[in-house]
Amino acid sequence: MKTEFNIAVFPGDGIGPEVITEAVKIIKIIESKLNLRINLTESLVGGCAYEATGCPLPDDTLDIAKKADGILLGAVGGPKWEAIDFSLRPERALLGLRSSLGLYANLRPARIFPALLNASTLKPEVVVGLDLLVVRELTGGIYFGEPRGVGTNDDGHKHAFNTLVYSEPEIQRIGKIAFDVARKRNSKVCSVDKANVLEATGFWRDVVTKLHSQFSDIELSHMYVDNCAMQLVRNPKQFDVILTTNMFGDILSDEASMLTGSIGMLPSASLGEKYSMYEPIHGSAPDIAGKDLANPLATILSVGMLFKYSLNLEEPNKWIEMAVEATLDNGARTLDIMSDGMNQVGTQEMGDLVATELEKIN
Ligand code: NAD
Repeated sequence: MKTEFNIAVFPGDGIGPEVITEAVKIIKIIESKLNLRINLTESLVGGCAYEATGCPLPDDTLDIAKKADGILLGAVGGPKWEAIDFSLRPERALLGLRSSLGLYANLRPARIFPALLNASTLKPEVVVGLDLLVVRELTGGIYFGEPRGVGTNDDGHKHAFNTLVYSEPEIQRIGKIAFDVARKRNSKVCSVDKANVLEATGFWRDVVTKLHSQFSDIELSHMYVDNCAMQLVRNPKQFDVILTTNMFGDILSDEASMLTGSIGMLPSASLGEKYSMYEPIHGSAPDIAGKDLANPLATILSVGMLFKYSLNLEEPNKWIEMAVEATLDNGARTLDIMSDGMNQVGTQEMGDLVATELEKIN
């Protein structure tokens, strides 16, 4: 069994460094629990990288990313860099990492912790036990399709256009990921499209249906995206894995995340053939940066996904989820998930409490 791993750590901007500090505590505990050797290499990304080098994604950072078994990212961006040229904005570093590393599959689990049932805007009986995973295609579709642009019609009116295009291999590779992860869950995939209106997603449906013949142990269903948006708030527990396109996944995964209460709770993984990156779904939260108010749990849970998907170690992910659950059961809450009668803690204390629970697990 492989016991030495390289993890690239990119804290980024705003609350990124604060939540990453807590996540690193967790990595170190797992390292000693399993007698591993984990080499952590930090580098600049986003606004801080722009300040230091004039580029939000320096070559050094990309090199470190390419040498790593997995990448852990905090968050990038902030008001300080809103006025600079679009190509130099911190957020471009994320797109640069995704495209340079071929991270075509975005996995966003939405799981509700029992202690946080009341943090959801939906009735507790609708979300109790919720555990779904959105598998979003991340490097294709309408966000990348060509031609795109703003121009002028033959009749002289200005117009703007984008192109929704998917090739068979692009759909097959993301479909395989969805079927594979469903095997490790409840063996159900719901593929979401708009096949009644858009040829490209009718094609998506055909390719997924054909691919399914290789995964006959998995139950496959299809749903139109408008219905899925409705079903997510009507009866979200009907879903196990939702497989969908880049744009539909962008929207549906944000909707799904809110079922669980706070944006500060949700981890994500972006996977490619060779590389993989893990990050909380939230941004750099400049409004609370530097105040010890950020919830580090999304980043800590992202560490669990890194162990599971990139290092092929399932146990640490389970332990981390158990430690987070125990910490919440004990009443610890950061401000974003605070409710009456609970114990408000800061970013660092929340990290320490999860670390203590993790140490207790044998
Ligand atoms: P945001 O996710 O940073 O914040 C939205 C709201 O949620 C804020 O009120 C914030 O305080 C709160 N919040 C976010 N994370 C939290 C946490 N861990 N604990 C407690 N509260 C939390 O989104 P935004 O305000 O739209 O964007 C701020 C900056 O982040 C922008 O520059 C944006 O471009 C960038 N951004 C980066 C990423 C990323 O790095 N992946 C993602 C989204 C936004």
